[in-house]
Parts: sequence; structure tokens; C-alpha cells
Amino acid sequence: MTRRDSASPPGVAPPPTGHQGFATPVRHGDRGAAESPGAHPAAAEQAGGLTGAGDHGSDHTEGGRSHQRLRGQEFILSEDYNKMTPAQTYQAHHARVTVVLFVLEMEWLLSTAQDKLLSWHCTESGHLQGTYRMAAWVSGLEFDVETRHVFVGDQSGQVTVLKLEQGVCTLVTTFRGHTGSVTALCWDPVQRVLFSGSSDHSIIMWDIGGRKGTAIELQGHSDKVQGLCYAPHTRQLISCGSDGRIVVWNMDVNRQETPEWLDSDLCQKCEQPFFWNFKQMWDSKKIGLRQHHCRRCGKAVCGKCSSKRSSIPLMGFEFPVRVCDRCNDSITDQERAPTATFHDSKHSVVHVHYEPTRSWLLTSGLDKILKLWDMTAVVS
Ligand SMILES: [Zn+2]
Ligand SMILES: [Zn+2]
Repeated sequence: MTRRDSASPPGVAPPPTGHQGFATPVRHGDRGAAESPGAHPAAAEQAGGLTGAGDHGSDHTEGGRSHQRLRGQEFILSEDYNKMTPAQTYQAHHARVTVVLFVLEMEWLLSTAQDKLLSWHCTESGHLQGTYRMAAWVSGLEFDVETRHVFVGDQSGQVTVLKLEQGVCTLVTTFRGHTGSVTALCWDPVQRVLFSGSSDHSIIMWDIGGRKGTAIELQGHSDKVQGLCYAPHTRQLISCGSDGRIVVWNMDVNRQETPEWLDSDLCQKCEQPFFWNFKQMWDSKKIGLRQHHCRRCGKAVCGKCSSKRSSIPLMGFEFPVRVCDRCNDSITDQERAPTATFHDSKHSVVHVHYEPTRSWLLTSGLDKILKLWDMTAVVS
């Protein structure tokens, strides 16, 4: 991967080297841009200059004045992307806006805020179409145009699926799989797969199109996952996190679900009792052992019977995890071959945007730096 452009002063997008407009709509320091996956640049380009942007009630000081901004603002972008003219304001929320999503096909602006309301406006008329109260703050928003389903990821770790119709919002289902808050969502409308990233370091691929309830875990980050993008042509998922890693996942690979962890009072290999199994410990005069689980077969095993570590890429484990000795012996080198590539972004990424036509990736970091990456070498 080659880094095309890097350090820019805070608040300024990288110089538009021949490709103006790619990064320009993202204003740094505006956490609205940082937390709205896929909202701005894509929407701006598709709409030929129309974008919805969420404003925040942060202590945003301009010219000595502090603004408390709780509304959505629509701008007209000039042809060269160098000027933004306010066009419309959406009075949507009573608290800080967290995510905005413009759906060009519906001419809808979806927004969520710390008031836990999901609201959607018609950008044509400017009218509020409806609202829905969520149980927790929303941190990820994706929309399926075909079925008019909206996927809402929240701080409780849950993904809620809602169906939006003119003025009516109905609950379809909820997904639970993360142990931390959902930090990013990414929807692939072709394969009908939803990816959710979480502060629990994991990504879950929810296979909605497969209709079997399959959920595959992807473990490749050592800290919070902060952004997800999908490259539809090559079927690759790009994930970025607080660990500074950019991981490019090959989604053409058939991965398996991780097994349920089995419960047992004895090691399921050597039959030594676990420490809570007092009767067995007393009867056989054995010392109780700590219970562990093999990540491959899910069996409850003692530490001695699971001393090896192996990556299991076909189960989404790209780094070595605990496996029982039998599983370790049966995993072939071929099965250990990585299904993702790892790259160091050298900053803690808070937002990511992928532009598939040029294969450019924009990362913005906690260090207030925007980096533009040429991904052609790895996304192909
Ligand atoms: Zn054992
Ligand atoms: Zn095993």
C-alpha cells in the first residue's frame, strides 16, 4: 500500500492533487463527519453537489462564540468542491447529532442523536417524515434502498432493523452478538450482508441474504474497530481501528461460525475436574483446574490440554488463539493461510471512507490528521 498523502494541518483537508473533492467535504474536528460512515463524500458525489451534514452541540468555538448546534444542515457544494453554501436546516433533535445518512434514491435524510431519536426528513420538501425512539445512543446507520430497511447500531451493542415507510417506522428484528458498543456498520446490498464493528475489537458479518441466521466473527484488531468500508467489485472488507491497523479482509472466503462454548465439570480431553467440581476433586483426590475453551471445537479443556495457539482464519481468527491439542494437530498449513492483509496506518483511526472508483481510502485519526491511501495494490 502506498500512502498518497499524509500530514495536513488540523482542520484542513489534504491538498486536492488533481482529484479535487474527494476529501474536501470532511471537516476535521467535526465529529459528525467522523461518526457518519459513508455519509458525506459519497453522498456529495452521487448527488452532484448535495450533501447532508450533521452538526453537533460540541463546544465548537468560532470567533470566541460557542455554538450549541442540534440540527442537520444541508449544503450545496460548488463544482470544484471548494465552497459550501448552506441550503436547508433540519430541526431534528434535542441533543447532539451522532450520525447522519443521506439516501439519494429516497431523497431522505436519516439522522440520530444523543436524544436517542432516529428521525428521517424528506430533503425535497424539508419535512419530517417520522421518528423512532431507540433504547440507546446510535453509533451506526445503514439503509437498504430495495427493502427500505434501516440498520441501526447502538451503544448497547445491539443492531436494530427497522422498516421505514412514509411516516411509519416498524421494528423488524434485533441482532445481538457484540459485548461492546457498535461503532460502525457497513451494508453490502448485493450479497445482502451487514458488517458491524464494535468496541469489543470484533467485526460480525451478519448474513441476511443467506436466511440461515449465519453470523461470522472477524477477529483482526487489538483495539476498538472504528470504521468499516466494503469494496464491492473485489468483495473485500476494509476495517480500521484504534489500534492503527487497516485490515483488508477477503470476503470471497467461506468462513465458518465459531462454535458455542461447551460447559463441563471435567476437562473434555483428560477428564481432570475443574475447580468448582468439589465432589470429583475429593473422590479422585485431584486438584481442580481452570476451565478454558478451544476456539475451534468449543470443548471445555484444561490449560495443559490446550497449550497451543493457532490462527484459524477460516473461523475469522487471524491471530493465534487457544486451541486444544487435537485441533492444533488437525489444522493444516493451508487452513492457517491468512485471509486478510494487515497494514499500519500509524494513527488511531476514528473515521474511514473508501472511494471504489479510484480505490482510495481516507482515514482520519485522533491525531487530527487526514491520510489518503492508494489501495490499488491491496484492494484488487
Ligand atoms: Zn485436560
Ligand atoms: Zn478443539
